[in-house]
Amino acid sequence: QAVQPKKPSWIRVRAPGGEGYNQTRRIMRDNNLTTVCEEAGCPNVGECWSQGHATMMIMGEVCTRACSFCNVATGKPDALDAFEPGRVAHAVATLGLNHVVITSVDRDDVADGGAEHFAQTIRAVRHRAPDTTIEILTPDFLRCDDSALETVVAARPDVFNHNLETVPGLYPSVRPGARYFHSLRLLQRVKELDPGMFTKSGIMVGLGEDRQSVSQVMDDMRAADIDFLTIGQYLQPTPKHHHVDRFVTPEEFAAYEKAAYGKGFLMVSATPLTRSSYHAGDDFARLRSA
Ligand code: SF4
Ligand code: SF4
Repeated sequence: QAVQPKKPSWIRVRAPGGEGYNQTRRIMRDNNLTTVCEEAGCPNVGECWSQGHATMMIMGEVCTRACSFCNVATGKPDALDAFEPGRVAHAVATLGLNHVVITSVDRDDVADGGAEHFAQTIRAVRHRAPDTTIEILTPDFLRCDDSALETVVAARPDVFNHNLETVPGLYPSVRPGARYFHSLRLLQRVKELDPGMFTKSGIMVGLGEDRQSVSQVMDDMRAADIDFLTIGQYLQPTPKHHHVDRFVTPEEFAAYEKAAYGKGFLMVSATPLTRSSYHAGDDFARLRSA
Protein backbone atom coordinates (compact mmCIF):
# COMPACT_ATOMS: atom_id res chain seq x y z
CA GLN A 1 0.00 0.00 0.00
CA ALA A 2 1.55 3.29 -1.13
CA VAL A 3 1.80 6.14 1.37
CA GLN A 4 -0.95 8.66 0.69
CA PRO A 5 -0.01 12.33 0.48
CA LYS A 6 -1.83 14.48 3.04
CA LYS A 7 -5.04 16.12 1.84
CA PRO A 8 -4.34 19.80 1.23
CA SER A 9 -6.56 22.64 2.45
CA TRP A 10 -8.04 23.28 -1.00
CA ILE A 11 -9.70 19.84 -1.04
CA ARG A 12 -11.81 20.30 2.11
CA VAL A 13 -15.54 20.51 1.46
CA ARG A 14 -18.47 21.34 3.67
CA ALA A 15 -20.66 18.57 5.09
CA PRO A 16 -23.93 18.01 3.23
CA GLY A 17 -27.21 19.16 4.79
CA GLY A 18 -29.91 21.84 4.66
CA GLU A 19 -33.33 22.15 3.09
CA GLY A 20 -32.34 22.04 -0.60
CA TYR A 21 -30.07 19.07 -0.02
CA ASN A 22 -32.80 17.16 1.83
CA GLN A 23 -35.35 17.89 -0.87
CA THR A 24 -33.09 16.56 -3.65
CA ARG A 25 -32.38 13.51 -1.53
CA ARG A 26 -36.08 12.91 -0.95
CA ILE A 27 -36.96 13.18 -4.65
CA MET A 28 -34.25 10.66 -5.51
CA ARG A 29 -35.45 8.25 -2.82
CA ASP A 30 -39.14 8.67 -3.70
CA ASN A 31 -38.38 7.79 -7.32
CA ASN A 32 -36.08 4.93 -6.36
CA LEU A 33 -33.21 6.51 -8.30
CA THR A 34 -29.48 6.02 -7.93
CA THR A 35 -27.11 8.96 -8.20
CA VAL A 36 -23.44 8.95 -9.01
CA CYS A 37 -23.15 11.75 -6.45
CA GLU A 38 -23.70 9.18 -3.70
CA GLU A 39 -22.32 6.07 -5.36
CA ALA A 40 -19.01 7.75 -6.13
CA GLY A 41 -18.89 9.59 -2.79
CA CYS A 42 -18.54 12.88 -4.67
CA PRO A 43 -17.10 15.69 -2.53
CA ASN A 44 -19.48 18.23 -4.10
CA VAL A 45 -22.71 16.55 -3.02
CA GLY A 46 -23.51 19.18 -0.36
CA GLU A 47 -23.11 22.06 -2.78
CA CYS A 48 -24.76 20.42 -5.80
CA TRP A 49 -27.76 18.91 -4.05
CA SER A 50 -28.55 22.08 -2.15
CA GLN A 51 -28.97 23.68 -5.61
CA GLY A 52 -30.99 20.76 -7.00
CA HIS A 53 -28.16 19.48 -9.23
CA ALA A 54 -27.68 15.73 -9.27
CA THR A 55 -26.31 13.17 -11.68
CA MET A 56 -28.59 10.20 -12.09
CA MET A 57 -27.08 6.80 -12.62
CA ILE A 58 -29.26 4.47 -14.65
CA MET A 59 -29.14 0.71 -15.33
CA GLY A 60 -28.45 -0.28 -11.72
CA GLU A 61 -25.83 0.04 -9.03
CA VAL A 62 -23.64 -2.87 -10.10
CA CYS A 63 -21.09 -2.50 -12.91
CA THR A 64 -19.57 -5.17 -15.14
CA ARG A 65 -16.20 -3.37 -15.06
CA ALA A 66 -13.79 -2.76 -12.18
CA CYS A 67 -11.94 0.50 -12.73
CA SER A 68 -9.43 0.98 -9.93
CA PHE A 69 -10.53 4.54 -9.12
CA CYS A 70 -14.25 3.88 -8.92
CA ASN A 71 -16.39 3.11 -5.89
CA VAL A 72 -19.26 1.49 -7.79
CA ALA A 73 -19.70 -2.23 -7.00
CA THR A 74 -18.56 -4.77 -9.60
CA GLY A 75 -20.53 -7.92 -10.32
CA LYS A 76 -23.50 -9.30 -12.17
CA PRO A 77 -26.12 -6.56 -12.53
CA ASP A 78 -29.91 -7.03 -12.37
CA ALA A 79 -32.02 -6.97 -15.52
CA LEU A 80 -32.75 -3.51 -16.91
CA ASP A 81 -35.81 -1.85 -15.37
CA ALA A 82 -38.24 -0.81 -18.10
CA PHE A 83 -39.88 1.73 -15.78
CA GLU A 84 -36.66 3.53 -14.94
CA PRO A 85 -36.75 6.03 -17.88
CA GLY A 86 -40.17 7.21 -16.70
CA ARG A 87 -38.97 7.63 -13.12
CA VAL A 88 -35.93 9.61 -14.22
CA ALA A 89 -38.17 11.86 -16.30
CA HIS A 90 -40.53 12.33 -13.36
CA ALA A 91 -37.66 13.27 -11.04
CA VAL A 92 -36.24 15.74 -13.57
CA ALA A 93 -39.64 17.40 -13.92
CA THR A 94 -40.18 17.45 -10.12
CA LEU A 95 -36.76 18.98 -9.50
CA GLY A 96 -37.45 21.54 -12.25
CA LEU A 97 -33.95 21.14 -13.61
CA ASN A 98 -32.62 23.40 -16.36
CA HIS A 99 -30.01 20.78 -17.18
CA VAL A 100 -29.73 17.14 -16.23
CA VAL A 101 -26.75 14.81 -16.34
CA ILE A 102 -27.55 11.13 -16.82
CA THR A 103 -24.88 8.49 -16.53
CA SER A 104 -24.78 4.73 -16.05
CA VAL A 105 -22.76 1.76 -15.02
CA ASP A 106 -21.16 -0.30 -17.80
CA ARG A 107 -23.44 -3.07 -19.01
CA ASP A 108 -21.17 -5.45 -20.90
CA ASP A 109 -23.78 -8.13 -20.13
CA VAL A 110 -26.38 -6.50 -22.42
CA ALA A 111 -25.96 -6.89 -26.19
CA ASP A 112 -26.32 -3.18 -26.99
CA GLY A 113 -24.48 -2.04 -23.83
CA GLY A 114 -27.69 -0.37 -22.65
CA ALA A 115 -27.89 1.97 -25.67
CA GLU A 116 -31.64 1.57 -26.14
CA HIS A 117 -32.23 2.14 -22.42
CA PHE A 118 -30.21 5.37 -22.63
CA ALA A 119 -32.22 6.44 -25.68
CA GLN A 120 -35.53 5.71 -23.94
CA THR A 121 -34.43 7.73 -20.93
CA ILE A 122 -33.47 10.70 -23.10
CA ARG A 123 -36.81 10.55 -24.91
CA ALA A 124 -38.76 10.25 -21.65
CA VAL A 125 -37.00 13.29 -20.15
CA ARG A 126 -37.53 15.27 -23.36
CA HIS A 127 -41.23 14.45 -23.21
CA ARG A 128 -41.76 15.30 -19.52
CA ALA A 129 -39.37 18.23 -19.31
CA PRO A 130 -38.97 19.71 -22.81
CA ASP A 131 -37.05 22.77 -21.60
CA THR A 132 -34.42 20.78 -19.73
CA THR A 133 -31.14 20.35 -21.57
CA ILE A 134 -29.85 16.79 -21.41
CA GLU A 135 -26.25 15.73 -20.93
CA ILE A 136 -25.38 12.05 -20.99
CA LEU A 137 -22.20 10.50 -19.68
CA THR A 138 -22.00 7.11 -21.32
CA PRO A 139 -20.02 3.88 -21.13
CA ASP A 140 -17.71 3.07 -24.02
CA PHE A 141 -19.93 0.45 -25.76
CA LEU A 142 -16.67 -1.44 -26.38
CA ARG A 143 -18.27 -4.80 -27.09
CA CYS A 144 -21.16 -3.53 -29.20
CA ASP A 145 -21.53 -2.97 -32.92
CA ASP A 146 -21.84 0.55 -34.38
CA SER A 147 -25.61 0.60 -34.05
CA ALA A 148 -25.39 1.02 -30.24
CA LEU A 149 -23.81 4.46 -30.51
CA GLU A 150 -26.08 5.40 -33.38
CA THR A 151 -29.12 4.57 -31.23
CA VAL A 152 -27.99 6.91 -28.45
CA VAL A 153 -27.02 9.77 -30.77
CA ALA A 154 -30.34 9.46 -32.63
CA ALA A 155 -32.14 10.26 -29.35
CA ARG A 156 -30.45 13.69 -29.56
CA PRO A 157 -29.02 14.55 -26.15
CA ASP A 158 -27.67 18.11 -26.02
CA VAL A 159 -24.25 17.07 -24.72
CA PHE A 160 -22.59 13.70 -25.26
CA ASN A 161 -19.97 13.08 -22.60
CA HIS A 162 -17.66 10.12 -22.28
CA ASN A 163 -14.66 10.34 -20.00
CA LEU A 164 -11.19 9.25 -21.01
CA GLU A 165 -10.46 9.32 -17.24
CA THR A 166 -6.66 9.31 -17.45
CA VAL A 167 -3.66 9.39 -19.79
CA PRO A 168 -3.13 6.32 -22.02
CA GLY A 169 -0.04 5.14 -20.15
CA LEU A 170 -2.10 4.60 -16.99
CA TYR A 171 -4.94 2.65 -18.61
CA PRO A 172 -3.64 -0.79 -17.58
CA SER A 173 -3.71 0.14 -13.89
CA VAL A 174 -6.59 2.65 -13.82
CA ARG A 175 -9.06 1.62 -16.50
CA PRO A 176 -8.09 -1.96 -17.36
CA GLY A 177 -11.31 -2.94 -19.16
CA ALA A 178 -11.18 0.01 -21.56
CA ARG A 179 -9.14 1.15 -24.57
CA TYR A 180 -7.95 4.74 -24.86
CA PHE A 181 -8.25 5.04 -28.64
CA HIS A 182 -11.61 3.31 -28.67
CA SER A 183 -12.97 5.95 -26.28
CA LEU A 184 -11.50 8.77 -28.37
CA ARG A 185 -12.93 7.32 -31.53
CA LEU A 186 -16.35 6.96 -29.89
CA LEU A 187 -16.49 10.71 -29.29
CA GLN A 188 -15.22 11.46 -32.78
CA ARG A 189 -18.01 9.30 -34.23
CA VAL A 190 -20.64 11.17 -32.21
CA LYS A 191 -19.53 14.36 -33.96
CA GLU A 192 -19.53 12.64 -37.35
CA LEU A 193 -23.04 11.30 -36.75
CA ASP A 194 -24.41 14.63 -35.51
CA PRO A 195 -22.09 17.62 -36.03
CA GLY A 196 -24.47 19.85 -34.05
CA MET A 197 -24.13 17.82 -30.85
CA PHE A 198 -21.68 19.02 -28.21
CA THR A 199 -19.12 16.45 -27.13
CA LYS A 200 -17.34 16.43 -23.81
CA SER A 201 -14.69 14.42 -22.00
CA GLY A 202 -12.66 14.55 -18.87
CA ILE A 203 -9.72 13.19 -16.97
CA MET A 204 -8.65 12.94 -13.35
CA VAL A 205 -5.18 14.06 -12.36
CA GLY A 206 -3.02 13.06 -9.42
CA LEU A 207 -2.93 9.40 -10.49
CA GLY A 208 0.71 9.48 -11.56
CA GLU A 209 0.47 11.20 -14.97
CA ASP A 210 2.93 13.87 -16.09
CA ARG A 211 2.05 17.23 -17.62
CA GLN A 212 3.31 16.28 -21.05
CA SER A 213 0.88 13.35 -21.19
CA VAL A 214 -2.00 15.57 -20.11
CA SER A 215 -1.11 18.00 -22.87
CA GLN A 216 -1.05 15.11 -25.36
CA VAL A 217 -4.50 13.95 -24.20
CA MET A 218 -5.83 17.47 -24.82
CA ASP A 219 -4.37 17.39 -28.35
CA ASP A 220 -5.89 13.96 -28.98
CA MET A 221 -9.27 15.24 -27.78
CA ARG A 222 -9.14 18.26 -30.04
CA ALA A 223 -8.15 16.04 -32.97
CA ALA A 224 -11.33 14.08 -32.21
CA ASP A 225 -13.33 17.36 -32.23
CA ILE A 226 -14.23 17.24 -28.55
CA ASP A 227 -15.77 20.53 -27.42
CA PHE A 228 -15.74 20.53 -23.60
CA LEU A 229 -13.09 19.37 -21.15
CA THR A 230 -13.10 18.70 -17.41
CA ILE A 231 -10.02 18.04 -15.28
CA GLY A 232 -10.29 17.29 -11.56
CA GLN A 233 -8.21 15.88 -8.73
CA TYR A 234 -8.51 12.13 -8.21
CA LEU A 235 -9.53 11.25 -4.64
CA GLN A 236 -9.18 7.73 -3.35
CA PRO A 237 -12.66 6.44 -2.35
CA THR A 238 -11.33 3.67 -0.07
CA PRO A 239 -7.86 2.30 0.77
CA LYS A 240 -8.49 -0.56 -1.68
CA HIS A 241 -8.64 1.81 -4.63
CA HIS A 242 -5.83 3.28 -6.73
CA HIS A 243 -3.59 5.45 -4.55
CA VAL A 244 -3.33 9.21 -4.90
CA ASP A 245 0.08 9.93 -6.38
CA ARG A 246 -0.08 13.64 -5.58
CA PHE A 247 -2.39 16.57 -5.07
CA VAL A 248 -2.17 18.88 -8.05
CA THR A 249 -2.09 22.52 -6.96
CA PRO A 250 -4.78 25.08 -7.91
CA GLU A 251 -2.09 26.94 -9.88
CA GLU A 252 -1.37 23.85 -11.98
CA PHE A 253 -5.10 23.44 -12.63
CA ALA A 254 -5.25 27.06 -13.76
CA ALA A 255 -2.35 26.37 -16.14
CA TYR A 256 -4.19 23.33 -17.54
CA GLU A 257 -7.29 25.43 -18.08
CA LYS A 258 -5.36 28.14 -19.88
CA ALA A 259 -3.59 25.59 -22.08
CA ALA A 260 -6.90 23.88 -22.91
CA TYR A 261 -8.57 27.10 -24.03
CA GLY A 262 -5.46 27.77 -26.09
CA LYS A 263 -5.98 24.45 -27.86
CA GLY A 264 -9.52 25.42 -28.83
CA PHE A 265 -11.90 23.79 -26.33
CA LEU A 266 -15.16 25.73 -26.08
CA MET A 267 -15.61 25.14 -22.37
CA VAL A 268 -13.10 24.01 -19.79
CA SER A 269 -13.43 23.28 -16.10
CA ALA A 270 -10.14 22.45 -14.40
CA THR A 271 -10.10 22.80 -10.62
CA PRO A 272 -9.30 20.38 -7.79
CA LEU A 273 -13.01 19.65 -7.18
CA THR A 274 -14.09 19.59 -10.82
CA ARG A 275 -16.09 16.49 -11.70
CA SER A 276 -17.64 15.70 -15.05
CA SER A 277 -20.99 17.02 -13.93
CA TYR A 278 -19.84 19.82 -11.62
CA HIS A 279 -21.67 23.03 -12.60
CA ALA A 280 -22.36 21.37 -15.97
CA GLY A 281 -25.72 23.12 -16.31
CA ASP A 282 -24.42 26.59 -15.43
CA ASP A 283 -21.51 26.24 -17.83
CA PHE A 284 -23.74 25.02 -20.63
CA ALA A 285 -26.30 27.80 -20.09
CA ARG A 286 -23.50 30.39 -20.19
CA LEU A 287 -22.17 28.94 -23.42
CA ARG A 288 -25.60 28.96 -25.08
CA SER A 289 -26.27 32.56 -24.13
CA ALA A 290 -22.82 33.75 -25.25
FE1 SF4 B 1 -23.21 14.94 -8.29
FE2 SF4 B 1 -21.65 15.81 -10.26
FE3 SF4 B 1 -22.30 17.42 -8.24
FE4 SF4 B 1 -20.64 15.42 -7.83
S1 SF4 B 1 -20.26 17.18 -9.15
S2 SF4 B 1 -22.36 15.98 -6.50
S3 SF4 B 1 -21.45 13.85 -9.19
S4 SF4 B 1 -23.72 16.55 -9.75
FE1 SF4 C 1 -17.03 2.74 -12.33
FE2 SF4 C 1 -17.76 3.37 -14.83
FE3 SF4 C 1 -15.54 1.88 -14.36
FE4 SF4 C 1 -17.98 0.88 -13.95
S1 SF4 C 1 -17.10 1.52 -15.94
S2 SF4 C 1 -16.20 0.66 -12.59
S3 SF4 C 1 -19.11 2.66 -13.16
S4 SF4 C 1 -15.89 4.04 -13.79
